[in-house]
Amino acid sequence: IWQEVPLAPPDSIFKLTAAYKEDKFKDKVNLGVGAYRDDNSKPWVLPVVKKATSILLNDETLDHEYLPITGLAEYTSAAAKLILGADSPAVKAGRVSSVQTISGTGANHLGALFLSRFYQFNGKKQVFLSNPTWINHYAILRNVGIEPVEYPYYDPKTIGLDFEGFINSLKSAPERSVFLIHACAHNPTGVDPTQEQWKAIAEVIKEKKHYSFFDSAYQGFASGDLDKDAWAVRYFVEQGLPLLVCQSFAKNAGLYGERVGALHIVPPDAETANRVKSQLSVLQRSEISNPPAHGARLVSLILNDAGLFEEWKRDIRTMAGRIIDMRNELHRQLTEVLHTPGSWDHILQQIGMFSFTGLNPAQSQKLIDEAHIYLTQNGRISMAGLNSHNVEYVARSIDGVVRG
Ligand code: PMP
Repeated sequence: IWQEVPLAPPDSIFKLTAAYKEDKFKDKVNLGVGAYRDDNSKPWVLPVVKKATSILLNDETLDHEYLPITGLAEYTSAAAKLILGADSPAVKAGRVSSVQTISGTGANHLGALFLSRFYQFNGKKQVFLSNPTWINHYAILRNVGIEPVEYPYYDPKTIGLDFEGFINSLKSAPERSVFLIHACAHNPTGVDPTQEQWKAIAEVIKEKKHYSFFDSAYQGFASGDLDKDAWAVRYFVEQGLPLLVCQSFAKNAGLYGERVGALHIVPPDAETANRVKSQLSVLQRSEISNPPAHGARLVSLILNDAGLFEEWKRDIRTMAGRIIDMRNELHRQLTEVLHTPGSWDHILQQIGMFSFTGLNPAQSQKLIDEAHIYLTQNGRISMAGLNSHNVEYVARSIDGVVRG
């Protein structure tokens, strides 16, 4: 038995991390990691999360019973307000179907599964993905029988947004196509549309009656401001566009392993939202029965307590601020200290955890082989891997590979 099972290749990001761990070089740097690190390259437990954890530990009323199938209600409703805005017309009208999920990945899966079952696809069962995108989007869609197709997004010539390409593919796609859109801090490029560009994108989406599948994995983590990073999603809701949002608290609350997420589907009215939620509940039942309690309780405490919420915002600013400082310092080293050939302004313009450096695969490999600096082949670096101790070394090494 199982003789016909082929050996699958290891996940490329986890493979990179394994290679980094094995490297004995003292000054090695991991720029592949998709998780926040402090200035000493250590994972950071947010002070507000420590506080919320101790509150939970001392709460004698808590037990380990199952949560409802759709999750902890005080968590999902606060999470919906966080992304859609407390004044959201959709929240006020009670037309948001929210379900607690296994972090952002689970939200993407449940959202895709729901579309696969219930969306009236115009022709082929396809979802448009930005080129490039978070690599897992492809597998998540294929797992539920949806074919991923690509829309242009990144322009290697400008190391920025291919706005024309994006708009043109929205225009040329069949009506009622589904577009998966990164809400902010696009992974892997760090390239986001401006507010003016979002408005133009929304206009075409409205004209063509497309469906927006938002993936929001970095709210607050990108700019340091939770509202600013939710701007596009809220604008689309205001415009009355049909959409869903996948939400993750992995990055912005540092709760990676706790798997705290939510799927919010925003139908046109409360009655439809109720039917949608009933089907999400049926799907969730056969997949995980009930979502995990601990992380949702932590986030619920933080979102529903004004004092803790303020503390969380401060912690978010600490993380986003350190990342922005690293962008500035890497840029300063390359431009003012080393005068590295080429333009490096994209490092300042891109936002969030990641930056597309514009380094090609050969240069990226050279950084790994010769400088012990680990990054993905596409030249993406995680800003969280930079710190005051290694940024100069990284800049000098980039300078070296660029000059050949
Ligand atoms: N979407 C995007 C774009 C991401 O970058 C990530 C994290 N790498 C996720 C979703 C999901 O992450 P998680 O399941 O850990 O919340």
